[in-house]
This record gives sequence, C-alpha cells and structure tokens, in this order.
Amino acid sequence: MGFPIFGGSDGTSTTDAEPVHAMAISLKNREQIEQMRRSGRIVREALRRCTAACRAGATTEQVDAQAQAVLDETGAVGLFKNYPTYQPGEGFPACTCVSINEEVVHGIPGSRVIRDGDIVSIDFGCRLDGWCGDSATTVLVGDVEPAIRKLCQTTEHVLEIARQNIRPGRKWSQVARLMEGYAVKAGFGVVKDFVGHGIGRSMHEEPKVPNFVSHDLLARDIELAPGLVLAVEPMCCMGSEQVKVLEDGWTVVTTDRRPAAHYEHTIAVTDNGCEVLTDGT
Ligand code: MG
Ligand code: MG
Repeated sequence: MGFPIFGGSDGTSTTDAEPVHAMAISLKNREQIEQMRRSGRIVREALRRCTAACRAGATTEQVDAQAQAVLDETGAVGLFKNYPTYQPGEGFPACTCVSINEEVVHGIPGSRVIRDGDIVSIDFGCRLDGWCGDSATTVLVGDVEPAIRKLCQTTEHVLEIARQNIRPGRKWSQVARLMEGYAVKAGFGVVKDFVGHGIGRSMHEEPKVPNFVSHDLLARDIELAPGLVLAVEPMCCMGSEQVKVLEDGWTVVTTDRRPAAHYEHTIAVTDNGCEVLTDGT
C-alpha cells in the first residue's frame, strides 16, 4: 500500500508541517530484520498465489481470496483490511489491493473481471510476530500490448535499480534520481502523489520514500544507514502523471485513464549494501 505524499493515509496532515529529522526513523537490528524476512516470505507466497489466480475471466475478489487463504494458513495478520483505523467495517475493505490498467494503486477487489491484455497490480502486506512485510507486483494477463509490456518491464527495472543502488552512506535522493531518470528516459512518467515508506512494526513508518527527486526531498534528504528498512514502490505511467482518487475513497486512477504499473519490495539497508526481504529468500 502506497503512502500519500501529502499528509497521512487517513487524510490528516502529519509530517508536512514538521521537518522529517524531528520524526523518529527506527533502525532494525539483525534479529528484527530476520523477523521481517519471515513476514516477507508470507507476502511472497501470497503474491505468488494471487499471480497464479490472475487469469482472464477471474474476478479481482477471487485473486484477493488467495491472499486471505495464506493469512488463514500462517496466522499472519493482513495489514490492509480495515486500514487505517483497523476497526472492523471501517477503512480499506479487503486483504489486497488489486488495481487494473488505469488503476494505479489501492484498487478494491470485487466483481471486476480480469480480461486478456490487462495488467493487474497486486499489493499485499502482513505482520507476523509483530513485524511487517509489504510488496507488490504487476501481472501481465495474456496478450498485453508491447508498449504496455514495456511499461511493466521498465517499472520493475526501476525497482531493481533501487536494489542495486541502496547502500549505507548514500542519500536516498541519489537512488531516487537514478530510478526517475531510467523511467523518464524510457518514455514513462513517475507518479508523484504516492510514495514508498519506512516499515517495521508498522506498515507505514518514517521516512517517506519518493521515487523521484523534489526540492522537498533535497531539503530533507534520507541518509541510508544499516538497519533502515524501506518499502520501495515505484509507480510508472504511460501518459500524464496526474492521478485522482475515485468516489470509493480508495482507488487511485490516472486522470487520462492510460495504464500504470506498480512494483514494491521491502528492502533492508545492510552494512555493505541491502537485502530484499520480500523476494522469498
Ligand atoms: Mg504495498
Ligand atoms: Mg507500501
């Protein structure tokens, strides 16, 4: 689940009024990172099964049911159901976010039928023994147009660029510049309204992790240090970067209704580089 760049996910203003250095960024020790990896393995298994269920003719709620089954089997707690209040019946109504084509993130699983040629972003997070994992992938269903296929490949590679460049001593803006530059050079836009986030005991922790460089980031840059764990989640689009939230209060779509892709991993900064915690290893 992505983080809105302005204010908290509940729509209230939070960090924008305060300098980021005043907010607590918690570093995790090796044992805590391994606990997050266990959570990450469950996330990976859920996304694997959701991906397999992502076929033409299936509904998005059938995809969602695969992740719920993994929660039931493992005893892990889903992070999305009832977010942000976690009061039953309030907040996000499903286990996963399933977002098709022009839907960028936070699509609500339901009766929408997946069709051949669709791209389907599946986003899932869970908590096990107090520690969270969060990941997303985009599934290409059947015969996807070459230009849209390139959008997905590019967005996935943007996440890979982050993995290759996260290491202690770097500033996040250095990584974000490489990510944004790759997407733009390939001819795609980077969605600016939603960003990645720190993650640990909670799904959304400080800092906010944009996939682009802004004056705001440069003014309040993030020093990458061992033990920092980030959910990095590039969202790229074919046309305009403008997005809006639909009347359901959740689904984020491109305003020009052209496709967008979304990939995410939970990544821990280590002493000499980084480790992906949601790749199933
Ligand atoms: Mg997510
Ligand atoms: Mg996330």
